[in-house]
Amino acid sequence: MTDAHLHQTWDLDSIFPGGSASAAFLQHLDALAEDITSFAAMTSKSTGQNPSALAQAILTMQDIAAKIREAGAFVSCLNAQNVKDAAAKRLGGHLNQLRAKFNQTLTQLDARLINLPDEQFNQLLESPQVKPLTFVIRERKRRAIDKMPADKEALAATLSVDGYTAWSDLYDTIIGRMQISFHDGKKTHLLSVGQASNRLKMANRPLRESLFQQWEESFAEQSELFASILNHLAGFRLNLYEARGWNSVLKEPLDINRMSHATLDAMWGVISDNKAPFVDFLKAKAKLLGVERPTWSDVEAPIGTTHKLYTYEEARDFIVHHFHKFSPNLAEFANMCFEKRWIEAEDRPGKRPGGFCTSFPVSAQTRIFVTFSGTPSNVATLAHELGHAYHQQVMRGMPQLLTNYAMNVAETASTFAEMIVSDASVREATNPTEQLSLLEDKVGRSIAMFMNIHARFLFETRFYEARKRGLLDAEDLNRLMQEAQTEAFGGALASYHPHFWASKLHFYITGTPFYNFPYTFGYLFSTGIYARAQEEGPTFADKYVKLLRDTGSMQVEDLAKKHLGVDLTRPDFWQSAVDIATADARKFIELANQGTHEGTQEYRS
Ligand SMILES: [Zn+2]
Repeated sequence: MTDAHLHQTWDLDSIFPGGSASAAFLQHLDALAEDITSFAAMTSKSTGQNPSALAQAILTMQDIAAKIREAGAFVSCLNAQNVKDAAAKRLGGHLNQLRAKFNQTLTQLDARLINLPDEQFNQLLESPQVKPLTFVIRERKRRAIDKMPADKEALAATLSVDGYTAWSDLYDTIIGRMQISFHDGKKTHLLSVGQASNRLKMANRPLRESLFQQWEESFAEQSELFASILNHLAGFRLNLYEARGWNSVLKEPLDINRMSHATLDAMWGVISDNKAPFVDFLKAKAKLLGVERPTWSDVEAPIGTTHKLYTYEEARDFIVHHFHKFSPNLAEFANMCFEKRWIEAEDRPGKRPGGFCTSFPVSAQTRIFVTFSGTPSNVATLAHELGHAYHQQVMRGMPQLLTNYAMNVAETASTFAEMIVSDASVREATNPTEQLSLLEDKVGRSIAMFMNIHARFLFETRFYEARKRGLLDAEDLNRLMQEAQTEAFGGALASYHPHFWASKLHFYITGTPFYNFPYTFGYLFSTGIYARAQEEGPTFADKYVKLLRDTGSMQVEDLAKKHLGVDLTRPDFWQSAVDIATADARKFIELANQGTHEGTQEYRS
């Protein structure tokens, strides 16, 4: 490893020179617009009926999809590096129009696929360039058949702008206008929902509890509006599903994630049977916080300790060193991302919060966005995003249509990479207090996956069942939520968050229904793979790459069977993954009981 000073800003010019004023990018968009126009002609009724014309249309679709992704990646990088870049926002608007036109044309293509007689459909799949795409083409056709006839779907899509997505926009508007008043002991602040949400993780317990009271009350004040929005969103969705002949509200989210109901049941079943060690963890954590039973706001509170800070170079060295033990290729790739300035890490104002990783399929490159201030959690985030980048890297050269993996497997490589690094941090912690704090952070992720997200899933499933019978008022929703939370947290908490259904944006997302269980799936799937990697040692690295390459073209049950030899519809695999998380929880409890925790200091975050 070199000690050379690394650049902390990324290089976008090697993709499209000139930032949001890039002439090359405008050319890319113009060419894309022309491609979409000719694609529309290819899929029109008169020309698109025979297998060879359709094969051509499919390959064109694939090409356009790659170019749109390239453009989308560039625009999101521009917006993230400077949230005030007005030119970047205009480029985003332009791209959205192109995307909408492309999507309309895709419904024409789907209609062609459905109407193609079986014999000709099979002929289509036999053509050499389409053959590798068989899984996704069959999936497209099946999904189109499952829906209403194309003209009805088109009408539903038109009506959904005002009758469905508008409710979600209204939710955002109300959230954007809300102010939560908070007295910090000296003066009263009016906080936005985002600001308040960040401060709910502050170390000072009395202030945190008082803010949480205000938070609940603020959502209670608006609860009739939020209840109305949630009821109408759900009503639209249920009516659409009924018109399509779908009787389960889980059909769509399971299909998007290419998984079966049996797998979902097996996963939650194992989680439900393994609440006890996590209930004990929460109790042990509460003791450190100086209380008998934890409240809702204690769950994500820091236990308070100072910790080591890393320079950017040290972070690189730490990550590359630990990646290397698992896979030299992964380590080399990560190092290249730092050297070639594929990472935007600088800590400066004007950047978007959070982190992401985005793929440029045409340039065969990736960019990572984070804000690095040197905390262990920053190092873990870097590792996480590098995991995503590696996933994209091992898929380079594959047909674009085979690289679209769903949300539940999207987090496989990232969680895996993050685990390598957070495990190493815990092992190498210089004192027990630091080790305890790092472990708390690690087990905290399991609490989020097995308890918080489980509560969201239980609530949403029960809410949709109840909504079939009529409207629910805010009181009904509070009751359903508190029941779900009590069950999911194994009764561990002294108080819950009844208005969580109002405060959590994920219940109001229209693009992806049930924005919850795929997180837990991804986390446990990755944990199970991590366990396998540790058992097998270095030979696993190649198998891991093969598994990642198949994530965009298989049902998850087939993926797990082929690469891990396990049956996801049975509890065994899930149990082995949960056992790993349980071991961390037990280790935390043991350390906490040894009294290694000496006083608390203000946590830096
Ligand atoms: Zn991620």
